[in-house]
Amino acid sequence: MSSRSKKTGSRFYELYCIGCGRRVREDESTTRCPTCRSPLDVRYDYDYIRSRLNRYSLRNSPIKAMKYLDFSPIENLNLVISLDEGGTPLYRCRKLEEAAGYSRLYIKNEGANPTGVFKDRGTMVELSKMKERGAKAVCVASTGNMAASVAAYASIAMIPCYVLVPEGTAIGKMAQALSYGARLLQVRGTYNDVFRLTEEMSERYHFTLAGDYAFRAEGQKTQAFEIIEQLDWRVPAVVIVPMGFGTNIAAIWKGFKEFYDLGLTDRLPRLIGVQPEGCNPIVSGFNRGEEKIIPVERPNTICSALAAGDPLDGVKALRAIRESGGCALTVSDTEILEAQQQLARLESIFVEPAGALPIAALRQLLTTARVRADEVVVCLATGNGLKDPRSALRVLPSPAAIEPSIQEVDKFLKLKLYEIRAAGAKNGDRNLFTEVPSKGALSDLVNKEFGIHLTSEYAQRVLRLVEDFVNKGKQVTKADLQYILETTLKSASGEGVLKVEDFQVTTTLHGHAQAKVWVRFEGEQLESSGSGVGPVDAVINALKAAANSRGRLFFELIDYQVEINSPGTDASVETTLVLKDAQDNRIVTTGTSPDIIVASVQAFVDGYNLLWSRQQS
Ligand SMILES: *Cc1c(COP(=O)(O)O)cnc(C)c1O
Ligand SMILES: [Zn+2]
Repeated sequence: MSSRSKKTGSRFYELYCIGCGRRVREDESTTRCPTCRSPLDVRYDYDYIRSRLNRYSLRNSPIKAMKYLDFSPIENLNLVISLDEGGTPLYRCRKLEEAAGYSRLYIKNEGANPTGVFKDRGTMVELSKMKERGAKAVCVASTGNMAASVAAYASIAMIPCYVLVPEGTAIGKMAQALSYGARLLQVRGTYNDVFRLTEEMSERYHFTLAGDYAFRAEGQKTQAFEIIEQLDWRVPAVVIVPMGFGTNIAAIWKGFKEFYDLGLTDRLPRLIGVQPEGCNPIVSGFNRGEEKIIPVERPNTICSALAAGDPLDGVKALRAIRESGGCALTVSDTEILEAQQQLARLESIFVEPAGALPIAALRQLLTTARVRADEVVVCLATGNGLKDPRSALRVLPSPAAIEPSIQEVDKFLKLKLYEIRAAGAKNGDRNLFTEVPSKGALSDLVNKEFGIHLTSEYAQRVLRLVEDFVNKGKQVTKADLQYILETTLKSASGEGVLKVEDFQVTTTLHGHAQAKVWVRFEGEQLESSGSGVGPVDAVINALKAAANSRGRLFFELIDYQVEINSPGTDASVETTLVLKDAQDNRIVTTGTSPDIIVASVQAFVDGYNLLWSRQQS
């Protein structure tokens, strides 16, 4: 049997407006109330659901979202659009328990869904309903995850899918949506602008709207059902949920209530909603004690998935939190990124920033006694970290690259280059000194900040570079010192054949740049000049000319890259040069300085000397 309408022909559910209470027919709207524009909700005939419920199968069949179709408004089961969503793992997190001071902490890993986010559960119901109603095209506003999820399901449903996202949306999410065949537009505006534009577009072109509307919650509430089942039909004391639009926390509350009302469970959890400081309209509504959302005009957070300044389901979320006796709180972006790392290090669950909010909130909840340490707590890890790798890389060291030789591996391990990188990635913008320190003080500092001992020779070389920075009027930050250390430790030790005493460059708006260099080649003083398209090019050409006038070392400069370590025109830069000799041996060298020319000269001289010493041996 595929049709689920009642024998009498009447429906087993109806849509109603949460604002004015009016019933809404599906041919009127499935998104907002035609009278007052408030969001809609689905109300069931629970006697009907109860009469059809197969408790044996509910208790014994494996969990996944499709198992709970009895609790969904889908009428024609032949038209269900599913990617086998749900059935995500619930982990007991013993290491995190210890770190955070809890005794029974679980994580529901929603990143394990088909497109990497809980939204797939809702999209399953939403797109199945669209298929039932014969939608010709679907359009959706998204910060990325909704786009990818709707695009995936629209693709199996063979419904064309239009997606609007704010410009600069996480690259993984856009790649997903495009791959599933969505017609994607980036909009130069906030999510609110995107949302408004999408509703307008749907009206003008008769595209069916997908998004955080009533049907979605009917799929997303299966997270609550699964948590109950996975805890052996017991209800946790607390569930912590990140909030953007507020749809998900409201859906989860609905799920817990349905099982409770049907007598499948004997208690309800407290729901705790978390938002980032830079976009917290639901939390501030909770704190004001109102059931009204005051929009945040310019959301500012690393959690793009939560950057909804005017959340349509804010009211539903507030009702859910209050009814459950829970609370709402904010966490900072720094705390979120730390929690993201902590979750990955301790429990090997890699989430996007939005998925780390419940973890970031744990300590605050304990110290303010809103949760007791011995309560059973479930945190929702809402989305997979692969969707937005750039956010994680903000606090991670960029991986080192080496020549394919075991000596390079030796260096990496013995000099602990990995630790230097990791240390530099943390609080990298902290100022270490504005004046040149003594050699001893410098060594102590390096030891304290990076955990390595410098030999006297290396300390001397590090000191020389620090002097360069300070003399140019640049404060030396921890990230600067990290680059200085790496450059020094990786470069050849001892004096090379080529040494630069000074240089001078002139450049103009329209002409070539002209450079003069004064160098020592095997102790002999030389002067040389060169020109180029820009100052760096001119100096490098002058250096090449100086070296070639004596050395007759064949080499080619085959790559040149500049990386700027921080914002601002006084930022220090790291340059990377690749030199190649006649036998195709390649040498990669780096230089660092607040001055791009100095950094380039350093890298060039170092590379040249290395190539020279190799060709002599
Ligand atoms: C959409 C989303 C949320 C927020 O859910 P809402 O229903 O908008 O409150 C949280 N985390 C991730 C990863 C999301 O994609
Ligand atoms: Zn209404």
